[in-house]
Amino acid sequence: MARVKRGLLLVVSGPAGVGKGTVNAALMERHPEVKMSVSATTRPPRPGEIDGVHYFFKTKEEFDRMIEEDAFLEYMRVFGMNDYGTPRAFVEQEREKGNHVILEIDVQGARKVKAACPDAVTVFIAPPSLDILKERLVGRGTETQESIDVRTKTALEELKALPEYDYMVVNDTVDEAVAEMEAILSAERLKTERNTDLITKLTGGEPI
Ligand code: 5GP
Repeated sequence: MARVKRGLLLVVSGPAGVGKGTVNAALMERHPEVKMSVSATTRPPRPGEIDGVHYFFKTKEEFDRMIEEDAFLEYMRVFGMNDYGTPRAFVEQEREKGNHVILEIDVQGARKVKAACPDAVTVFIAPPSLDILKERLVGRGTETQESIDVRTKTALEELKALPEYDYMVVNDTVDEAVAEMEAILSAERLKTERNTDLITKLTGGEPI
């Protein structure tokens, strides 16, 4: 029997308010083979956030233990701030099953994942314009003015990292953004370097 082809690791970044979550949720709805990694964090849940769905909410001690056990594919820890990390086991298990895994993480996290997994595909979700991004940040209604200011400043910084990414998807409408994500999945799966088993069989030769 043919071996199941390993799934893709898709790293999706983009400023807060750009609609990453909405685009990813719509993609997963249409493609059951696309799974979202759930990060661990020491940040307290926001209203409506559910443990195990939005994040695995951890104490500092639990987070420390996971670091010691090498349970993170990458993690971010800034002194005096909340910690965030990507549990390694889920990503590996799903990719082995042939499912694609999405990591919704920031620019620094994306750099670490690319260093640890060079075959990761990085996608930056960008807003159609800065004005629209600012409107979306305010429109969320869950943040204080101070938090909106911090997020706007962070967003402008994050946009500077755009050229480091493999792909950019402009989230103008969700449907178009999802179609572009689908195009990325198709193109990546068709890469010769991801089809070495079949190429070897077709050429009847040595593994490449
Ligand atoms: P928030 O607290 O608003 O949910 O997330 C704050 C930031 O942490 C966001 O930029 C988010 O992308 C980032 N983040 C969430 N999960 C992870 C993770 O597993 N690793 C890293 N490096 N960043 C994460």
